[in-house]
Amino acid sequence: MATMRVVQISRPNGSFEIVERQIPEPGSGSVRIRVQACGICHSDSLTKEGHYPGIQYPRVPGHEVAGVIAAVGSDIAGWQPGQRVGVGWNGGYCGHCDYCRRGEFFACVTHQVTGITYDGGYAEYMIAPSSAVALMPAELPAAEAAPLMCAGVTTFNALRNAGARPGDTVAILGLGGLGHLGVQYSAKMGFRTVGIARGKEKEPLARQLGASVYIDSEAQDPAAELLKLGGAKVILATATSGEAMSAVQGGLAVNGTLLIVGAAPSMQVSPVFLLSGCRSIKGWYSGTSIDSQDTLAFSARTGVRPMNEMFPLERASEAYDRMMSGKARFRVVLTIEP
Ligand SMILES: [Zn+2]
Ligand SMILES: [Zn+2]
Repeated sequence: MATMRVVQISRPNGSFEIVERQIPEPGSGSVRIRVQACGICHSDSLTKEGHYPGIQYPRVPGHEVAGVIAAVGSDIAGWQPGQRVGVGWNGGYCGHCDYCRRGEFFACVTHQVTGITYDGGYAEYMIAPSSAVALMPAELPAAEAAPLMCAGVTTFNALRNAGARPGDTVAILGLGGLGHLGVQYSAKMGFRTVGIARGKEKEPLARQLGASVYIDSEAQDPAAELLKLGGAKVILATATSGEAMSAVQGGLAVNGTLLIVGAAPSMQVSPVFLLSGCRSIKGWYSGTSIDSQDTLAFSARTGVRPMNEMFPLERASEAYDRMMSGKARFRVVLTIEP
């Protein structure tokens, strides 16, 4: 019987274990993917530490998956072996619950999450429902596509749904794993892009990624600086600091939106400032497989790419620690040799 290597966690806070498993067969409505690369996301800590409600072990983490369809199960339409594909955080949806019937697939009551409710991409092969699968363009290498399946789609899909039009001022708060992609997407979408981060030393990077204005939030008041530009139509908050979000909200233009994708525990808001300018604060969920597919296609066409540090699958533990250290520039990606 053919076997594969996977990296699993067998209990909350357990270590990463490299184990041999039988290569699984795809069931009805599912495909088997030969994984070529898998990004390591901070949310993988939910699997590692056991903080996701109801998670069962052993579990293979990984929801930034890029690879090739190796086999399809029964009742599959539109997918075939050999297609290059990605799988992200959204692990598929049922298509018949009330949310799905309203087109809100991300809110599906089945709550399938790749690498959490079923085994993910720290592996040579994985099984995914076809509703979780995104087509990956031929010109995008797997290791570059992988982080786009979470960090990429989160920022791309948030920005394209934020209400800004080409020429509007859009600020990206934070210049890390999400923010370095957010700046690129914002610039390529035609927004006047403002990068906001701590320290003067990040300015060259922000400008290289496409920001036309840089605000050093340590030396300047970011809200005041944004108001000098006429205010931001959208501020995409990628940092996980509630204080940083509170400090920047005053830079919103009339009808502007602070769009939050960074998971800060809390922030302060000014109700008078919101209501007096019809401003809003809104959260944004990442996206489903078709949003990821759009993200990959847009990135391939426009040259948006993540900056990655690469590790082979066997060094998953070291790679995870590197991601958790916060020092990686900017995404950590596991590569899997065939
Ligand atoms: Zn993620
Ligand atoms: Zn559903």
